[in-house]
Amino acid sequence: MTTTRKTLILGSGPAGYTAAIYAARANLEPVLLAGNQPGGQLTITTDVENYPGFPNGIMGPEMMQMFRDQAARFDTVIKDTMATKVDLSQRPFTVETEAGETIRAETLIISTGASAMYLGLDNETKLQGRGVSACATCDGFFFKNKHVYVVGGGDTACEEATYLTKHASKVTMVVRRREMRASKIMQQRVLSNDKIDVLWEQNVTDVFDVEQGRVTGLELTHSKTGEKQQVAADGLFLAIGHKPNTDLFKGVLDMDETGYIKTVPGRTQTNVPGVFAAGDCQDHYYRQAVTAAGTGCMAAIEAERWLAEQAG
Ligand code: NDP
Repeated sequence: MTTTRKTLILGSGPAGYTAAIYAARANLEPVLLAGNQPGGQLTITTDVENYPGFPNGIMGPEMMQMFRDQAARFDTVIKDTMATKVDLSQRPFTVETEAGETIRAETLIISTGASAMYLGLDNETKLQGRGVSACATCDGFFFKNKHVYVVGGGDTACEEATYLTKHASKVTMVVRRREMRASKIMQQRVLSNDKIDVLWEQNVTDVFDVEQGRVTGLELTHSKTGEKQQVAADGLFLAIGHKPNTDLFKGVLDMDETGYIKTVPGRTQTNVPGVFAAGDCQDHYYRQAVTAAGTGCMAAIEAERWLAEQAG
């Protein structure tokens, strides 16, 4: 069945649901495809303490349920399915879903987010939210006076390590080469911080301890010699990059070299008129729930105004 909508929103993180709330209240009757991880990255974190309006903090999954309920309250049609194919070459745009539906839409808001990259270790997945994290700003607070490890040698790893020193008693960076990829200034900041140690040419190859239900240690393997050692650890932070979930739009939407969608500066408009991008799929810099929500709001307002202009 083919349905034409004023606005179709892809993604169900803070950007997508905020876009839905604003679009619905502007009578754009939005449809939102929630994707294969409804609620987005916040559903794999525990307490969220930096989102304004929750003085006592809130659990990530609970907060995203509240976002969803608020979007549904204004009659957003929420479908728990993925977009599998898009055609932005003509309007209305066409989106096919995993559920076999084809949706036509006059405007499209892309808020498909980004995914933190992980090492791919079995125990790393099992201990996510129990000492394994990919967001120091979100979870650093829970490591007061603990010894945490940060994997990566880029700007994010340096920034996360520096941030973690506010809470942890000791931070050890694990860098797989003899040098870091990070900018010199960020490297200097970590190298001159007494609370930060750097282990060069090392890799985290296992995480303990699933039986205890929280991180208690790591296995490290030397990049060249293959020599292994076990170390005690209270936390493991991955900072080996994020991947924006934008593969569907490759070759159609302008992106930077790492796949983040480019928008008009200060706006959410992409290079295709009527297509807007909000949240982490277009932001590698802030990557916060509150900034994602802000750009979701912007996208809905821009979609509304764009439709009004088309109507003339
Ligand atoms: P980067 O891709 O720049 O760095 C990733 C780091 O992780 C590299 O050190 C890389 O090692 C390492 N790495 C990748 N895969 C593995 C693996 N499997 N095991 C171990 N280590 C691994 O990502 P960032 O997130 O750091 O930065 C992304 C972009 O955002 C950059 O352009 C950065 O400059 C920018 N940024 C800027 C900031 C600022 O200006 N304040 C703050 C944060 C980010 P290797 O070098 O060996 O490949």
